[in-house]
Amino acid sequence: MHLDDRSPSDMPLSDPTSSSSSSGRFADQVEKLRAAPESVHPVTTISEKAVLRWTSDPAAKILREVFDGFDKSRLEVSIQPLAVSSTYLVDSGRPGPLRRISGGIHGNELCGPEAVLKLLEGYASGGRTLESGGVVLMLGNEGALLENKRYLDENLNRMMGKVSGVEGSEVGRAQALMSVLRGDLPELHKFAGQRQFALDLHSTSLPTPMFVWAERFHVAALEQLGVPNAVIHQLSTLPEDYQRTVQCYCTRNEVLCFTVECGQNTEEQTFLNATQTVDRFLQFSNAEPKTLAPQPLERLGLYVEDHRMTPGFQFTEHFKSFQFLRKGTEIARDNERVYIMKADGYLLFPHYDPPSLRIGKEETHMVAQKLK
Ligand SMILES: [Zn+2]
Repeated sequence: MHLDDRSPSDMPLSDPTSSSSSSGRFADQVEKLRAAPESVHPVTTISEKAVLRWTSDPAAKILREVFDGFDKSRLEVSIQPLAVSSTYLVDSGRPGPLRRISGGIHGNELCGPEAVLKLLEGYASGGRTLESGGVVLMLGNEGALLENKRYLDENLNRMMGKVSGVEGSEVGRAQALMSVLRGDLPELHKFAGQRQFALDLHSTSLPTPMFVWAERFHVAALEQLGVPNAVIHQLSTLPEDYQRTVQCYCTRNEVLCFTVECGQNTEEQTFLNATQTVDRFLQFSNAEPKTLAPQPLERLGLYVEDHRMTPGFQFTEHFKSFQFLRKGTEIARDNERVYIMKADGYLLFPHYDPPSLRIGKEETHMVAQKLK
């Protein structure tokens, strides 16, 4: 299936007379989330234990504890720590793809680290099999995980590919993780020439249905992956710092990467979504037999209004994330400039206060529009 290069204003518009069918399944999910009572992750599950561990122990130590607890003589796969801290290679000993699974690139998003930890425990206990190739398990921002913060000095997910001129505690970690992502460690060289995949797990501060950030050439793969909603972009049209995400770095290094937003940070469903996404990704990449049925995919095209935001920028009203807005709706003003919806679509993650409101950066807001 092919997506073309039409601008969002040329995208087919939905029928303005029908509110339910025009907003689609995605909008239904958003509304359901808004209506549902809050169900914060309960304290009795492995997830909560992991949350407590992530916030009270050095991240590397946690993985190390799990790793040291293995009876390695009984393992059917080999598991070895890589030279980069908090990263491990699980190796089937058979040729095949190299997959990377990362969590905690943002240190306050705990569903990913937990899914990584569970997977490591699964391989160690023999509860999971690995049919071919290898899986690299990675924790992202170790320092921020310790403090349960998105990042300490700089957003690690805007540092992949260019860290010159950037300072702070994330610089070294970004460089180390890039070497793992591009497979540039001696233990990973044997996978050169094999197919290369990555899954980067995230969650959101605002209520959001699960969706995957993907690029246009990913669409066929997305249908096999089976994550129900996709926001689709094109690397070359993204603002410069968005081109320095894990996903874009992978694309530039010929690694097929899915970035999945599993839901709101502390919701129980978010943790379940992360675990199930890992299952789907492993099946998709032939690490495990396929048992999960594909799901219909709703595709949204990403449009970034990337003018430089001045201190005069203000949203017209307090929109919610993924609020469905009609073509022509005024979204924001920045001094004389007025921003309107160029087609029906969803407003993604509107931020009202710095630093999330990115004054001086080349992005004012993001809109996702239904693709047909
Ligand atoms: Zn994130």
